[in-house]
Amino acid sequence: MSIGKLKNYTHKSHLNSYTGEFAMNLKHRQFVKHVKKHLSKHGMRLVVGRGKSVNIGKGRCEGYFDQDKKLIKVAGDNSAFLETLLHEYCHFLQWLQKSKIYKTSEKHCLIVENWLQGKKYPEHKVKRAFYWVRKMERECEQYAVKLIDKYELPIDKVKYIKNANCYIYAHYMMEKKRKFSTFRKSPFRSQKVQRIMPSNFKAMSHQTIPQKIYDALLSCV
Ligand SMILES: [Zn+2]
Repeated sequence: MSIGKLKNYTHKSHLNSYTGEFAMNLKHRQFVKHVKKHLSKHGMRLVVGRGKSVNIGKGRCEGYFDQDKKLIKVAGDNSAFLETLLHEYCHFLQWLQKSKIYKTSEKHCLIVENWLQGKKYPEHKVKRAFYWVRKMERECEQYAVKLIDKYELPIDKVKYIKNANCYIYAHYMMEKKRKFSTFRKSPFRSQKVQRIMPSNFKAMSHQTIPQKIYDALLSCV
């Protein structure tokens, strides 16, 4: 189980010619097909919601993977459909490949979810839970970037990694504000935030957040 993905991309195609777009769409379609097939092998399915977001618990998000319900659900009418599908598929892979980080993070995801809904926990437990959620999300994003190459997905990799780091860092704001959806202004659309986001995974974004990034994200809250 993972907490839902809350992302806001502005997805622009970098290939504009007809053939370019055709090739992009082909890779996109092939990937969706592959995900469906892979999920069905394990008794799971892909559900594409009709809106810009899907329900999760009491909130809305762009997609999620739920191993108990045996599905990946992604909002269909969303410009970040492919990126979200990729991300949730990578949670499925973490689960399938029995990633230690994913396994350990399960109980921590639950703590974060409950805490965001008002349940009380000792401070150190909440801190530890967020650490594991970030670590698990970071692993997921690292899987995702490899798959962009493997399936030749029409996704701008640099932009994807910046957004991935932004997403991991956004958890520090969730923790500070005790809210799943904290942003007044999307940091994914803020040039100021995007400019300072690392375009690789060298930063240990699950462990610490640089002051500059913290301040920039805080300005979006
Ligand atoms: Zn995730």
